[in-house]
Parts: sequence; C-alpha cells; structure tokens
Amino acid sequence: MPDQAPADLALLGGSLRTMNPPGGRAAALAVRAGRIVAVGRDEEVREHIGPKTRVVELRGRTVLPGFQDAHVHPIGAGLEALRCSLHDRRGLAAYLEAVAEYAERRPDTEWITGGGWSLDDFPGGTPRAEDLDRVISDRPAFLPNRDGHGAWVNTLALERAGITAETPDPPDGRIERNPDGSPSGTLHEGAAHLVEQLIPVDTEAEMLDALAWAQADLHRLGITAWQDAWVLRDMIDVYQRFAEQGRLTARVIGALWWDRTRGPDQIEPWLEVRAQGAVGRFTVTSVKLMLDGIVENFTAAMSQPYLDGSGNATSNSGIDFIEPDALADAVTRVDALGFQPHFHAIGDRAVHNALDAVAAARAANGPSDTRPHVAHIQVIHPDDIERFAPLGMVANAQPYWAVHEGQMDRLTIPFLGPDRSTWQYPFGSLLRAGARLAMGSDWSVSTADPLVQIEVAVNRVSDLHRDHEPFLPDERLTLDEALAAFTTGSAYVNHLDQETGTLEAGKLADLVVLDRDIHAPDAGPLGDARVIGTFVEGAAVHDELPT
Ligand SMILES: [Zn+2]
Repeated sequence: MPDQAPADLALLGGSLRTMNPPGGRAAALAVRAGRIVAVGRDEEVREHIGPKTRVVELRGRTVLPGFQDAHVHPIGAGLEALRCSLHDRRGLAAYLEAVAEYAERRPDTEWITGGGWSLDDFPGGTPRAEDLDRVISDRPAFLPNRDGHGAWVNTLALERAGITAETPDPPDGRIERNPDGSPSGTLHEGAAHLVEQLIPVDTEAEMLDALAWAQADLHRLGITAWQDAWVLRDMIDVYQRFAEQGRLTARVIGALWWDRTRGPDQIEPWLEVRAQGAVGRFTVTSVKLMLDGIVENFTAAMSQPYLDGSGNATSNSGIDFIEPDALADAVTRVDALGFQPHFHAIGDRAVHNALDAVAAARAANGPSDTRPHVAHIQVIHPDDIERFAPLGMVANAQPYWAVHEGQMDRLTIPFLGPDRSTWQYPFGSLLRAGARLAMGSDWSVSTADPLVQIEVAVNRVSDLHRDHEPFLPDERLTLDEALAAFTTGSAYVNHLDQETGTLEAGKLADLVVLDRDIHAPDAGPLGDARVIGTFVEGAAVHDELPT
C-alpha cells in the first residue's frame, strides 16, 4: 500500500493511450481527489485500491484523455436544438415538415427560429422564401443554415426588415435575388443580420437551458473541455451564472467576438472581464477574429478569383471581413495584451492574412505564449504550410469536412478548379511541416462526436458513405496523430496542457472510456465506437460503465 489514502477510482485491464507520448500505452489508472495518482500496469494500480475505491474492470476497452473541442458553439447548438432544428432532416420536403410541426407546437412564439439546413439540398445552396411561405406565412421565419453563414427567410421576415429590390447588399454580405432584383429568400453572411437584428434576444433562462443541454450532450460524447468560438457579453454572463450555480462541469475557454465594425479600442472592456479570472471552470482569454465567409457562397477570401462552374474566372475572389492592415493592428494589440488570437479562415487569402497578422504581432511584441490558432483552414496555399510552425500558429482542424460529399463535389470543387481543390484541409502536410494540430467540431455546423471526426481524419471518407473514395488521401493522419490532436493538441490551444490532455500521474483526471479497444484489428469503424464513461476530475459526468 503506498503511503497515501486509497484511490477513489481504479480502472483496470484496459487499453490506455496516455498521449504521453502519442501512442504511449498503459493498462490501468488510479484517481484520488480528482487527480491521476498512478498510470501503469494492473499490479501497480491495484496497490492504490482500498475498501471504498470504485474498481472498473475494462476488459481491454480504450481509455483516453478527455476530448477537448477547440472550436465549438454549444449555446447556439442548444438553442437550435430546443427550437426549430433541421439538423436531423435532409431535403426541402423534410425541412418544411419540421417547420410546420414546430410552428404548430409553438403557436405563441412570435419568430420561427432554429435552423440547420444543408446548403447542398438546394440548387446553388439558396432556398426560396415562397417555399417557407407555404408552411409559415403569418409569422416571420429566420432559419440559418448548418454553417451559420446564411439564412433562409420567409416573405414576412423580408418585409419586416424592409428588404426589397432597392436594398443594397451590405459590405460583408449578399442578398440572394431574383432576376428582377427582388430578394429570393436567402441572405448570405452579413445580409442575414438585416433580419436577425429584429429577433427578440434570447433570455438568460433559455440560454441556461441551452447550455445545460449542450454540456450533457458533449459529455456524452467524451468531451471534457472546449473553446467556445464566439462569446458575447450575454453568453459570458450565462457561463458565469452556470458556473456559480455549480453546474459547469466542463472546462470552457471563451473566445470573445471581435466586432469587425469597430477598432482596436474595443478590447479595453475585456481586460476587466479577464481580470475577474476564472469563474468555476470558465475563463475568457481568447479573441475570435472572423476573416472571411465560406467557399460555397463565394465569400471565402481567395488569392485568385472563383471560377464560374464552367472553368472561367469570375471577378469575385471573396470578402476580407477585416482588411489586412487593420487585422495586423488588431492581432498585435490582442497578443500584446496576452489574449489568444483565434481566427476563422476558410480561403487561402484569409489564411495568408492570418499568418501575416501573427508575423506582425511577433515582430512588434516578440515571442508570446498566446498560442494563436486558425480554425477551418479549408484552402491553404502550399507556400503557406511551412509558415505555421515557425510562427507558432496552431492549425485548428475540423476534420469532418474533409470528404467527398455534396457541398464539396457540387458547391466547392467546380468553383475552385482542379488545382486549388487539392489545397484543401492539408492536415497531413501541416503535421509533416512541424505544425501543431488541434481539432474541433464547429458544432452545430456538423457533428460534435469526436470519434466520427477522428475516423474522417484518418480515412478522409465520410462515416455516412464509407464506400466513397477518400478525399486527398495523402492528407490522412494516423489514428494516434488524430487522437493526439483532439486531446493534447486542443489542450495546448486551451492553455490546459499543464493540467489535462494526457494520462499522467499528477494531472487532473479528465478522461474518457470507450466501449471497445479501438486499436484492435477487429474494432470496426471508429465512428461506430461509443463513449461509455466520461470523467472530469475523477467525477463521472457520463456513466454507462459496467459495475
Ligand atoms: Zn465556428
């Protein structure tokens, strides 16, 4: 018996991947007072078992550090799920059915909101107002797509916002139009805000419910920490309230929303928020800078123009939401104040601008530990791949998107052309160039399940179409590389790597138990595996373990 109190929890006979180093293995682990006190062979861990220790015989099942999602929107996902959610539906008829059902169920709700439709269910990714009018015409409807980069609205919503043929496109968006110039029912990027600003704000009670729902769902999927990629003042209040109520079991880093219509002085009030320090497991130490839109609606910022679908160049190369000079100033300021820059960059020009901005910050401020990261990284110019490592820019990958499916094959590749299409999601190349890789879901854009995301990172084939050909198979990762990105990689981005991200004696016992040994030859597809136990500081937050 070691010279200390017995463990609270002992996991025996498992296939532990410690991530220390990646691929590191052990069979057993003991937890006391929220921390891992032993990792190793069964006999080493058995010494820590006392009369009150919970002992779990794993029978070869995999144990990993808890997954950390480096880019996710849980409150928005929860609000959508609790409203008119279209995420589990596909196709116009199914969407309209869901809207009609919701409207009937919620007769007193003034606005029909929620969302989650898929771009590739509509020609050109642009649904029409008159279709929505068929199921809801007496109340305004505002339904963002799965990506959150545009919204489907009905005629009443357009009327309420005063959007007509005469309304100009805002600088950061586009109103989809009929040949006569009248709005057709899809509002891209900033144009959606013309309607969105009319919707009554979410109440704190609604947001608390949404967060509770989302946290339970993320724990069920093995996630113990995340970076919320877009927090506004009201969301900070909700996280803090939730934490004060003792309900926040996840570790959460909030990324403040950089308002692109305002200058660098917007950062001052945040110093006060940060100075409050952690409230429970919630801290606000990151700043989200959204640099462009998405390829599918031609708002991702590209270094060369989009093609027209027949291979001819257009005059459109997307939108810089923040001009490069202003971006360099912003990032230099953010970094100097010790906040982490967290970029959204989809197009190769946006990625390039993000790298340039970090280079400017490094030149002005010298080295820092702010750990800038760039999420999405859909199209990266090959010359920029080797810039990540020396700048200390972390590649924050959403691996689930790196597959052949409708949005890729019909709405992306024809408009990028054959060469640029091969520059997409170059995760393998980034790793080979020494870049640090983190992973996140961007849920509710797509699934929050790390196991299916990791399956895609490894195979570059959708878990929904496992017979499809891999998408750019040279960019595949090994299973251990992808697991490391979703654990240690994201822990690094979250500045939680000192305490979490590996299974090591002394670290916090944030860990996940799977229903099988995922490295076994007969394990089956990774996405078919399930999480059967999730622990935060040794306390079960999801528990279907054998007793
Ligand atoms: Zn996002």
